[in-house]
Amino acid sequence: MSTSPVTAAPLDPVALRADFPILGEQVNGHRLVYLDSAATSQKPTAVLDAERAFLTHANSAVHRGAHTLAAEATDLFEDARAAVAGFVGAAPQQLVWTSGATMGLNLVAYAIGNASVGRGAPASARLALAPGDEIVTTAIEHHANLIPWQELAARTGAVLRHIPARDDGTLDLDAAATLISPRTRIVAFTHVSNVLGIVNPVAELIALAQQVGAVTVMDACQSAPHLPLDLPGLGVDLAVFSAHKMVGPYGVGGLYGRTDVLEALPPFLTGGSMITTVTLDSAEYLPPPQRFEAGTQPVGPAIGFAAAVRYLDAVGLENIHAHEGMLAARMAEGLRDIPGIRLLGDAAGVERVGLWSFDVDGVHAHDAGQLLDARGIAVRVGHHCAAPLHSRYGITASVRASAALYNTVDDVDEFLDAVRGIRPYFG
Ligand code: PLP
Repeated sequence: MSTSPVTAAPLDPVALRADFPILGEQVNGHRLVYLDSAATSQKPTAVLDAERAFLTHANSAVHRGAHTLAAEATDLFEDARAAVAGFVGAAPQQLVWTSGATMGLNLVAYAIGNASVGRGAPASARLALAPGDEIVTTAIEHHANLIPWQELAARTGAVLRHIPARDDGTLDLDAAATLISPRTRIVAFTHVSNVLGIVNPVAELIALAQQVGAVTVMDACQSAPHLPLDLPGLGVDLAVFSAHKMVGPYGVGGLYGRTDVLEALPPFLTGGSMITTVTLDSAEYLPPPQRFEAGTQPVGPAIGFAAAVRYLDAVGLENIHAHEGMLAARMAEGLRDIPGIRLLGDAAGVERVGLWSFDVDGVHAHDAGQLLDARGIAVRVGHHCAAPLHSRYGITASVRASAALYNTVDDVDEFLDAVRGIRPYFG
């Protein structure tokens, strides 16, 4: 079983591609140029093998059985927790398994809703919202970090406010400093927008939130696969990320929490595996992280997730960030030269990950995507679950090309060549 990538620093994407069998596929008679990793990444053999090895040799219910296989499965599952927690600089007890980032954000919002109706430990009162309290998010969020807060505001009478973005896609920190006030109880923001690719000034947002005692919630979906992360060092209270965007399996993700914040948070889902004692009328809950892990957990995917973060670590997040930055710069240079292309979030002097979204004058994003697909080039088209951000730019859809560690300069050049043909083709 291949447990480590075939490359060492600096990153050699051509060698790495051998670890990703799908990249050898032909699509519509062309070699696959996969530029849709922000939607979901491809998975290396090491991840596929880890899940298969678990299911073949150690599959059993964790934390329950008295038999040898159950103990082995439990060890592998908890080792996986330690590996994924360590990947973001955290301790194992600070990492809650979720089914993905959407689930993680809903867990937090619903748990705060429970605290707001008096559920949870005495410490939960610090998280409770009352009518007139404010939740601050941003105008560039994925729907997963917007709608749960809309729902929480509706349930509690809290008011939802949004930090605006400037035309160049950067967040308006002056506006943030005014919006985040003593009424603010929660500040929820994305580390990297899945449309703009800009690394947001999250340390500044956290500092503003800390000045008023607000809880911070960070969507790290688009940063965790691409940048080294130290969540405790950053000082964020809660953060979510998703394995399937991190060369890992579907159906599993992580919720990181500061220990005191997780301890104050009431459960969201309840049932088996999250209790100490139960009577017919009441139940006592386990401490975190098990308090948030009701029911059977995605054990195989968690073990695959651990293989994924080991893989990313072995390549090196600094190497990945540098490689993807080079691809993003090449993409931007090429796209800016093509008449009729408008890049979204083309801010100068900002740190970015390897993705660009753009509008093609006079051509619907879906038509553009179809033309690229005919050449074997996979991109995402639509609003990318960020409809308000697209409205901000006066459009309903865009084309998004997103690179990962396994993309090459040839991928980018073939993509640019195909984009050059879009407007001439549609006349
Ligand atoms: N947040 C961002 C920024 C994303 O890009 C995505 C996925 O597209 C999500 C949240 C949702 O993640 P998941 O698929 O794990 O629910």
